[in-house]
Amino acid sequence: MDKIKIGISSCLLGENVRYDAKHKLDRCLKDAFGKSVKWISVCPEVECGLGVPREPMHLIGRPDSPRLVTRNSNIDHTDKMLKWAKARLEQLEKEELSGFVFKSSSPSCGLKEVLSEKRTGIFAKEFTAHFRFTPAEDSDSLHDDKIREEFIRKMHAFKKASNLS
Ligand code: SF4
Repeated sequence: MDKIKIGISSCLLGENVRYDAKHKLDRCLKDAFGKSVKWISVCPEVECGLGVPREPMHLIGRPDSPRLVTRNSNIDHTDKMLKWAKARLEQLEKEELSGFVFKSSSPSCGLKEVLSEKRTGIFAKEFTAHFRFTPAEDSDSLHDDKIREEFIRKMHAFKKASNLS
């Protein structure tokens, strides 16, 4: 099969971009996709200028319009993140991604429930609204063989239907 280009939360590739300057390398994911993939790494929190290390954040407020706020000092970074995301999503259009893998349970990248609450991470929410038909999955779900196979199938179908390079 042709190589597919997939966006991914940078920490899953082993980049030390987390709030504690560590990573969340997902060997299982990297091994499962192997060399059939070209990864496009994105770390919303670093790329929007929050630095490493940084104070951890969480989501507060309404599930449909959550705010991204630091845990101790209560600084609201939502507007900064949204402004950066708008420009980054336009850049990502040029990448012609066939899919995106989001780090689970992150207030920026979490695609499904973040910390057992029905909220989606700020960047994941913006991404899925902008790229409505691009397959997206969260990292923990992809440890399930069936979900991973289905995700791969969807990405190849999307690539073909969209005539992506
Ligand atoms: S979960 Fe997202 S924002 Fe957090 S470190 Fe990983 S890539 Fe960066």
